[in-house]
Amino acid sequence: MTTPTHISSAAAAGSPAAALAPYAAVFGTPLSGAALKVMLLGAGELGKEVILALQRLGVEVIAVDRYADAPGQQVAHRSYVVAMTDKVALRAVIEKERPHLIVPEIEAIATDLLVELEAAGTVRVTPTARAAQLTMNREGIRRLAAETLGLPTSPYRFADSLVSLAEATAVVGFPCLVKPVMSSSGKGQSVLRSSEDIASAWNIAKEGARVEGSRIIVEGFIDFEYEITLLTVRARGLNGQVETHFCEPIGHLQVGGDYVESWQPQPMSPRALERAQHIARKVTDNLGGQGLFGVELFVSGDEVWFSEVSPRPHDTGLVTLMSQGQSEFELHARALLGLPVDTSLRAPAASSVIYGGIEAQAIRYEGVAEALAEPGTDLRLFGKPESFVKRRMGVALATDVSVDQARAKALRVSGAIRVKAA
Ligand code: AMP
Repeated sequence: MTTPTHISSAAAAGSPAAALAPYAAVFGTPLSGAALKVMLLGAGELGKEVILALQRLGVEVIAVDRYADAPGQQVAHRSYVVAMTDKVALRAVIEKERPHLIVPEIEAIATDLLVELEAAGTVRVTPTARAAQLTMNREGIRRLAAETLGLPTSPYRFADSLVSLAEATAVVGFPCLVKPVMSSSGKGQSVLRSSEDIASAWNIAKEGARVEGSRIIVEGFIDFEYEITLLTVRARGLNGQVETHFCEPIGHLQVGGDYVESWQPQPMSPRALERAQHIARKVTDNLGGQGLFGVELFVSGDEVWFSEVSPRPHDTGLVTLMSQGQSEFELHARALLGLPVDTSLRAPAASSVIYGGIEAQAIRYEGVAEALAEPGTDLRLFGKPESFVKRRMGVALATDVSVDQARAKALRVSGAIRVKAA
């Protein structure tokens, strides 16, 4: 196999630093020796959109997921089913495919392997292997934001036993939240109103943790007015320097720690917006690299608290498929390839999640034509092979003259879709 020039010069120099230097990719021809190859680690609905954006630019894409026929695998050039937390299995697929770029799409990955391969100059990881490693664990990113960068966050303590959880709640106070440090989408998360809730919170956290071990974070409850995702893009300008771009803030509604509706733009006071952008810039500057980040923030009046950051497209950002000229997926693809980006808003829009609602294989969707009858509506059905009651199977999208009207329209679209067992 020939090695495309953009990586061979760095490899020949034997310098990891050279291999990691920001570059504009040399574009090639997929499925040939001159292909620019990108491997997605995780190929869900967000990865699927990134894959499509990459393919429109002639990139060869390999999709890896832990189960067969994941949404992104259905559109990739090649796909693999691999337990990505298994370092040996992950190394084998990377060595077999030798991609130029690795794009982590989920958190549950053996990120220590990515750090190792990136340091050796074997691959580049988007945005960086360190960003993937720090953000897969709530402890890493919280300590960076609050202790290293001095950003405002909820008060917090970490615990790894029932006794230390009780001690942590005594410091943080009630109400508070307990979350496993390795978990997402509200899994293992609960709100504690008094000391009577400690034992059940401990059990819920143990059951919901993504990996073995029971370390948890106890967070003081922030009584915020609204919460936003500030999509922040680190992309190369024509002068070769990495520049930071912000999308308009995305407002969202969470139920049980999972997003059910999002809209863009979320109105904010000028001071709150300035603070939000300041926080997002500090965090993403530190994580570095090129790509799009979803910075999650809580807002009350002019006050802003950092909550979390994803070094990749964010589920609440599905709305940008409708609201922006370049969606968050296109922005991520462009940024990681070293291309210029445009984060401007096209029109107010909203998204509304379509859950499976049933436990079944190979479901059918009814009402699609009625759902899309109104102008300014769209839909993504992700094509997941199996439905669960709380599994996100699709998303309704709508645009209108105001966010309120777009939200109402998106809800009409999702409400018209009926999921049936096959
Ligand atoms: P997370 O899994 O950390 O993204 O949390 C999921 C959702 O739970 C957030 O989007 C918030 O709606 C809520 N939440 C998380 N942490 C806090 C907090 N410290 N105070 C209030 N609400 C929170």
